[in-house]
Amino acid sequence: MTYLRTNKHIPERSCCVCRVRTDKRKLIRLVRSPEGIAVIDIAGKLPGRGTYICPDDECITRAEKSGALKRALGASVQPELWPSLREYAGGLTVDAGMKIRSILGLSRKSGALLVGAENIERCRHAVIVLFASDCSERVKDFAMTHDHVALGMNVEELSRTVGSRGGVQVVGLPVTTGFAKKLKRLEITERGSAFEH
Ligand SMILES: [Zn+2]
Repeated sequence: MTYLRTNKHIPERSCCVCRVRTDKRKLIRLVRSPEGIAVIDIAGKLPGRGTYICPDDECITRAEKSGALKRALGASVQPELWPSLREYAGGLTVDAGMKIRSILGLSRKSGALLVGAENIERCRHAVIVLFASDCSERVKDFAMTHDHVALGMNVEELSRTVGSRGGVQVVGLPVTTGFAKKLKRLEITERGSAFEH
């Protein structure tokens, strides 16, 4: 799947578990502290040997089971690191969901939000298309022809978010609106985490 396009050059790093290479801001950095312990580098500026991991439960659980972090850092991993790492990763994801919900709710109220593929197609401007996790293949194919975002919410949640009784699979924001610009500032990762910049 592809996500919001960006022209800026951003340094890339690999997750120490799944090896996916991506914008380093979409990964969590960990470093080996001077005491030889693995710590989360929240500001991304701590010195020392570092490694990166995806901010999602799949990679964190695999790291915990496989010892990948320990190997990547040559550091000892305290048991309390795992809940902290999950909490930190979860915060990033929840935050992204809330921001997207707020953008959708406000744009709906202001009349800027295009609800449904027909309204998106009728728009004369370029549109960022956002689709529900359980939308039809046809809607997904339609979304792929635009700048698009795979939402971490299903049809029911999307419908509720935009104040509809149900059945909303896809919505769109014309790129000319402030809401689209706000959305573009969120870097949304493949698994629904987002970083604002
Ligand atoms: Zn990963």
